[in-house]
Amino acid sequence: MNEIKKPRKPLIFYYAMVLLALLVLNGFILPLIQSQRITEVDYGQFMQMTEAKQVADVEVQENQILFTDQEGKIYQTGVMDDPQLTERLYASGAKFRTQIIQQASPLMSFIFSWVVPIAIFVALGQYLSKKMIDRAGGGAGSMMFGMGKSNAKIYVKSTSGIKFDDVAGEDEAKEILSEIVDFLHNPKKYEEIGAKMPKGALLVGPPGTGKTLLAKAVAGEANVPFFSISGSEFVEMFVGMGAAKVRDLFKQANEKAPCIVFIDEVDAIGGKRDGRIGGNDEREQTLNQLLTEMDGFDGSKGVVILAATNRPESLDPALLRPGRFDRRVPVELPDLQGRVEILKVHARKVQMQNNVDFDAVARTAAGASGAELANIVNEAALRAVRDGRRMVSQADLEESVEVIIAGYQKKNRVLSDKEKMVVAYHEIGHALVAAKQTHSAPVQKITIIPRTSGALGYTMQVEEGEHFLLSKTELENKIATFTGGRAAESLIFNQITTGASNDIEQATRLARAMITRYGMSDEFGMVAMEQLTNQYLGGDTTLACSQETANRIDEVVRALIANQYHRAYEILHDNIQQLHALAKYLYEHETITGEEFMNILEKTEQQMLPGAKA
Ligand code: ADP
Ligand code: ZN
Repeated sequence: MNEIKKPRKPLIFYYAMVLLALLVLNGFILPLIQSQRITEVDYGQFMQMTEAKQVADVEVQENQILFTDQEGKIYQTGVMDDPQLTERLYASGAKFRTQIIQQASPLMSFIFSWVVPIAIFVALGQYLSKKMIDRAGGGAGSMMFGMGKSNAKIYVKSTSGIKFDDVAGEDEAKEILSEIVDFLHNPKKYEEIGAKMPKGALLVGPPGTGKTLLAKAVAGEANVPFFSISGSEFVEMFVGMGAAKVRDLFKQANEKAPCIVFIDEVDAIGGKRDGRIGGNDEREQTLNQLLTEMDGFDGSKGVVILAATNRPESLDPALLRPGRFDRRVPVELPDLQGRVEILKVHARKVQMQNNVDFDAVARTAAGASGAELANIVNEAALRAVRDGRRMVSQADLEESVEVIIAGYQKKNRVLSDKEKMVVAYHEIGHALVAAKQTHSAPVQKITIIPRTSGALGYTMQVEEGEHFLLSKTELENKIATFTGGRAAESLIFNQITTGASNDIEQATRLARAMITRYGMSDEFGMVAMEQLTNQYLGGDTTLACSQETANRIDEVVRALIANQYHRAYEILHDNIQQLHALAKYLYEHETITGEEFMNILEKTEQQMLPGAKA
């Protein structure tokens, strides 16, 4: 640690704060304090007091009358149309003036408007500046007052201690990064042969996949200090500060080499420079400084810059040139195996029954990130504690997967019986359409217990194996399954509800992708008409086609969904007895498993066979 540098306090800043405080205090607080000292009375009482010669001072204003009694207490009353007022006041001997009556003693007024605020703000300023120094760990000065000091946090090896073992899955990323670890252990080896280590590596992937964790693990494995700062922290309110922070960060890193510098959310500074007039100068200055520093420092000293982003497409190409972040490390969402391993890593930290089937849990958590899986384990542990148990069970994990996916159960009943019935048919609609199609993932669970996320019920389907390719038929089946809920409502109640909004969204997204990205329509064939702009964050797309084509795409999407809706409706129509039986069962039980679902389905169908008793 370096010695604490005394932060420079820009005086103007204090003045501004004090001035602001005075304005606020005089504008709002002071009148409040004073208004408590004014007694409101009705006009009658004012008259009585005047008659009784208790009134000393009177001021008649436009919409109120302020007056004091002989003891100096202030009163207030409304203005009446009272032509004799002046006469009566005169008769009572009261003074009536045109100036505003002094409402508080001059001394009090002075104290409240000057002494108190100044005292408060001097104290606050001291407190803040002290806090800033503490926060910066003593080494980096203060963010707000010490202009140009970075507040990169220093994690010395002993405090990080994270190893590659703590990062589950992500084997490719670990492999690429282990070369950096080796270099930090043994830079001579690389120098002798004349190999230059990359100065920086860019970790790219969706949020919560372990990018920060990997960077820490590199530092932990190499046993070197770890500096981390978020890109958004560089972009400050004062112009020129970001660039100064970058300079300072690299200066510190050089002093501590070998070490790892980790810049999270690097897209916040490293976004494309668009060259527009009035663009974000501050950000561009910061980025330019970063580029300069990266070019300037001597890679052989052992400073390795790791950066993370989930918006790689928005990065300025200059950042990715050789000698800068020229190594790209994909950190993707974990596959089934990866999810199992991540669950196991986090299960090490909690007391868990040893018959837990991690594979089954990982299957239901398809698409979950490492951070979500860590959260699932923690939720399960909390649930066990709530129930007064000492071990986390399979059921805890399964419930917490649902919590992460759909939110907590809403225990108080919010649905009417009629609504519950509609939701039951809606969910069975999804499940039955899925079950009656080949190439559909089996139903795992259906529930009509509302969740805090707003879902009134949901049907959980779980793929049997892991799929990396989806056929056109499978996609169409998915769309049909999405529309199954609405189809059931329409078939049974001859009425449709708002409950299908999420289904509609998902069906539309899928249908669009089939046509504009997967080349699955006869009309357009293998032409890409949309591009993913935001691969890791929600998958936004931009159209790359003429307006005419765009209109036509909309039509084709509509037709595709309409067809699948029609198919779903037919399936339900042909299996209406099953639909009734299953919806009734779900209505009564609220949550049913895939197994129960299949049992009822088969039982109903056997009863329907010719010769079977109804
Ligand atoms: P990112 O930087 O990619 O957004 P983080 O590294 O901050 O994600 O991950 C947040 C947390 O999620 C980690 O602290 C860890 O508990 C958990 N996590 C994420 N990925 C993994 C993984 N691959 N293995 C183990 N834990 C993980
Ligand atoms: Zn639905």
